[in-house]
Amino acid sequence: MTASITPRQEFVETIAANVRAVRARIAGAAERAGREPAAVRLIGVTKTFPAEVCAAAVQAGLTELGENRVQEGVAKAEALAEVGVRLTWHLIGHLQSNKVKLALGAFAVIHSVDSVDLARAISRRAVAHVDVLLEVNVSGEATKFGFTSEETPGALREIGTLSHVRVRGLMTVAPPGGAESVRPVFRRLRELAERLSLPELSMGMSGDYEVAVEEGATMVRVGSALFGPRSAPGGTA
Ligand SMILES: *Cc1c(COP(=O)(O)O)cnc(C)c1O
Repeated sequence: MTASITPRQEFVETIAANVRAVRARIAGAAERAGREPAAVRLIGVTKTFPAEVCAAAVQAGLTELGENRVQEGVAKAEALAEVGVRLTWHLIGHLQSNKVKLALGAFAVIHSVDSVDLARAISRRAVAHVDVLLEVNVSGEATKFGFTSEETPGALREIGTLSHVRVRGLMTVAPPGGAESVRPVFRRLRELAERLSLPELSMGMSGDYEVAVEEGATMVRVGSALFGPRSAPGGTA
């Protein structure tokens, strides 16, 4: 690639092998559910990793990356754009209204719209249509961001009146637990999206993306299974 961000070749190869393995598991899960593997987008979650890891991810064949913090994501997006790497960036973590403008400059999709006020702030500052997902706290955990399942239809109606926001689907972060214990959470998100005629479902992380694909995920957000464990604190937003 270029001089300024040059990942080590063996690291690129490790990530490329991980990408192949994860894609194979996604394909297996899709086939078990009678779905097209191509209907599932793999988003590599690079939060806490340096820009070199993002560059390695691109060389390993990923075209979509996810970050959970605005400033961190913007910095990496700018670093990669500077060296000519084109990527689709997804914001997957909580967005504060005062960072909307900054976020819109870098992220193509915002997965974490968790209030009508935030959607209004996005619509006010957007110049073109912004694709968003509504974050749903399906399991009702008190510590989590997101609409409850019951609030989601009303929120969608209100957000649907905003001129510059286009709600493409729903997103959830499943509670910790075994991959099978989260299946009902993914299923409920899919049923909710079907009822609301929303096509996209962002669900599934390293520990549970296969179950998510079996239950209908169209985007999986995978970090550690591709890039290894995160050492920095705050890695699991
Ligand atoms: C960190 C994070 C992920 C990826 O987590 P892994 O377990 O490393 O795959 C996915 N979604 C969100 C919202 C995250 O914050």
